[in-house]
Amino acid sequence: MSKTIIISNRLPLQLKIHDNTIETVPSVGGLATGMKSVHSQSDSLWIGWSGLTEEEFNLDLKTQVNAALKKHQCVGVPLTEDDIEGFYYGFSNNTLWPLFHYFMEYTEFEKSTWETYKMVNQKFADVVLQHIEDGDTVWVHDYQLLLLPDLIRKKKPDTSIGFFLHIPFPSYEVFRTIPCREDLLKGMLGADLIGFHTYDYERHFLSAVQRILGHEINFNNIHLDNRMVKVDSFPMGIDYDKFHNAAKTHDQKSNKEQTEIQQEINKHLKEGSNQAKLILSIDRLDYTKGIANRLRAFEYFLDKYPQFKGKARLVMLAVPSRANVPQYQKLKNEIDQLVGRINGKFAEVSWTPIWYFYRSMPFENLIDLYTSSEVALLTPIRDGMNLVAKEYIASRVDKKGVLILSEMTGASNEMGEALIINPNNFEEIADTLKFALEMPEEEQIKRNNALQKRLKRYNVEKWASDFFEALEATKNDTKKYI
Ligand code: UDP
Repeated sequence: MSKTIIISNRLPLQLKIHDNTIETVPSVGGLATGMKSVHSQSDSLWIGWSGLTEEEFNLDLKTQVNAALKKHQCVGVPLTEDDIEGFYYGFSNNTLWPLFHYFMEYTEFEKSTWETYKMVNQKFADVVLQHIEDGDTVWVHDYQLLLLPDLIRKKKPDTSIGFFLHIPFPSYEVFRTIPCREDLLKGMLGADLIGFHTYDYERHFLSAVQRILGHEINFNNIHLDNRMVKVDSFPMGIDYDKFHNAAKTHDQKSNKEQTEIQQEINKHLKEGSNQAKLILSIDRLDYTKGIANRLRAFEYFLDKYPQFKGKARLVMLAVPSRANVPQYQKLKNEIDQLVGRINGKFAEVSWTPIWYFYRSMPFENLIDLYTSSEVALLTPIRDGMNLVAKEYIASRVDKKGVLILSEMTGASNEMGEALIINPNNFEEIADTLKFALEMPEEEQIKRNNALQKRLKRYNVEKWASDFFEALEATKNDTKKYI
C-alpha cells in the first residue's frame, strides 16, 4: 500500500535525555498541527532531524531514540555538529534566510557552507530513499531542503513530489545575486507541485525560473523537457478552533484559576485611574520582524499624541531565537537599549509605556496576552506569513480588538479588514495606532467578524488538504502531458 512521506528539517518532536533515557515531547508548532491529519494516517512517515547531533548520544541511546521516533512514525536523519553548523546556521540561516527576506547586507555567500548544505540535503535524500516505495507521495518542506526534490526525483523518477516554501520567495533581482541560483531552482523543480504562501512569491519564483533557466511557462505551469511542474499559492492557516476554544475557556476562569501572567495583567489594568489599553507585540527576536522599528514608531506615537501617555501600554514579547548568531545578539542589545530609553523618557509613577518580556511563553500565557490586548501591533519588515496575526484574531471571542499589520507579511493579503501599514512609515503607524485605540466597538466587531469567518474556513487542516488535492491532480495532469 502506498504511503505519504513528510520531510522537514526538524521532526515534529522534541527529544530530551534524562538519566540516560529518552523522553519525547510532541511539538505543537503550526506545521506539526497542520500535518496532524495527514501524519496520523497509519501509513505515513515523517523524516527529519531529531534535534540531537550524532555526538550527543552513544550507541545505547541511539537505539532508544530510534525506537521512540518509530513509535511516532518518525525517522531521524543523522547529523553531526559540523553538519548543523554549515547547513543550518551557515547556508540556511546566514544565506537563504536573509536573502529571501531582502536583507542582502546580512547575506553571506560562503562556498564551504554551500558544500555542507548540498551534502546534508543528500543525507536527507539517502534516508528518504531507504524508506520510499513505488506509489508513495512525498511532501518536502522549506528552505533548508531546496535541493531535496530533485535528489529524490533522480533516483525515483515516478514519485509524486510536493514542495512548500514557508518563507517569501524574493524578486528575481534579489534572487539572481546568489551564486548557486541555478542549482537551487533545479533542486526545487524536482517537485511536481511547488507551493508558496502568496501569489507574489509564486510570481517571483516563476520569473526567476524563466529568466535564469529559460524554461517555457504557461500560466502557472513550467514546461521541462519531459515533465510539467505546477506552481500555486496556498496561504497557511492556523488551528482556529484550538485558539478560539482556549480563549473561550480563558474568559470563564475564576480569579483563582487564572495564570500568574493574567493576574499581573489584571493588576496593571486596574493600576492608577487610567486603565491603560494594552497594545500587543509578539515575535521571535529576528531582524525580519521589525521590532526595533516598532519601538521607535511607538516612541514617535507618544511624542506626537501625548494624550495617550498613561492610557496605552506596549506589551512586547520577544522570543529568543538563534541567540548565538552575532546579528541577533546585536539586535537584542539594540532592543534592550531602546526599551530602557523609551521607558526612562516617558515613565510616570503609575505607568511605564513598555512591558518587555524576552522569553518564550506557554500556550496558556499567549492566550492571556491575546485576549487581554485591545490592539495587536505587528510590523515585520518581511514575513512569509505571520501566524501571530491570525492567532490574535481567532482568540478574540467577543470580536473586539484591532489588528495593525505590516503590508510586508504574507498574512496581510488575506486580512484586508485589519489596519494595514508600511512598517517603515512612523507617521502612518502613529496615526493608525491612534485610530485603532479610538475605533468604535461596532467597527471592531464588523471587521473581526469577517476575518474570523475566513480564518475558521481556511484553517491549517484545509491548507494541508488543499495542497494534497492539488498534488494528486498534478499527478493526473502530468500523466496526460507525457
Ligand atoms: N509562539 C510560541 N511561544 C511564544 C510566542 C509565540 O509558541 O512564546 C508561537 C506563536 O503562537 C506562533 C509562532 O510561535 O504560532 C510564530 O509564528 P509566526 O508565523 O508568527 O512567526 P515565525 O516565528 O514562524 O517567523
